Amino acid sequence: MSCIFCAIVAGEGPAEIVDSDEHTVAFMDINPATPGHALVIPRNHSRDLLEIGDDDLAHTIAAARRLARRMGEALEPDGFNVLNSCGTAAWQSVFHFHLHVVPRWETDPLELPWVPSPGDPEEIAATASKIREAEPKAKPTRADVEAPDSGEG
Ligand code: 5GP
Ligand code: ZN
Repeated sequence: MSCIFCAIVAGEGPAEIVDSDEHTVAFMDINPATPGHALVIPRNHSRDLLEIGDDDLAHTIAAARRLARRMGEALEPDGFNVLNSCGTAAWQSVFHFHLHVVPRWETDPLELPWVPSPGDPEEIAATASKIREAEPKAKPTRADVEAPDSGEG
């Protein structure tokens, strides 16, 4: 099986599973950003946010919230980040859609990966109208047309 997350769904890959249902599986990340960092995936293989179907997406975000609530009880964090990387340029490294659920503490060492600074309002408006006028098509990100697809498809 070429997709490591499909292997975990099939019970063929080692994983610390922390939650699951008919549509999703959640398991611990082997490179945790904070203690408790876990991933939630749909059982069906989809490459990324652009490809996943609406139903699987809805099931996966609902499962991420359930996991956050579970972690809230178990670990008593001060907050959470729920993150998705879509495309290699955005740091996606496993091409089976997943949400990171990262419990956060006021004292943890994580930092925002960008420095917030005011943008040029005209540039923001011009970009906004370009986005508004575009069709929401589910095509892959430009760089990923050439990127390897590790999925079952
Ligand atoms: P991405 O970089 O695609 O947003 O996230 C992939 C995540 O999967 C990474 O945080 C990485 O640590 C985690 N990961 C990669 N391979 C495995 C694995 O075999 N098992 C588990 N549990 N996590 C993995
Ligand atoms: Zn897969």
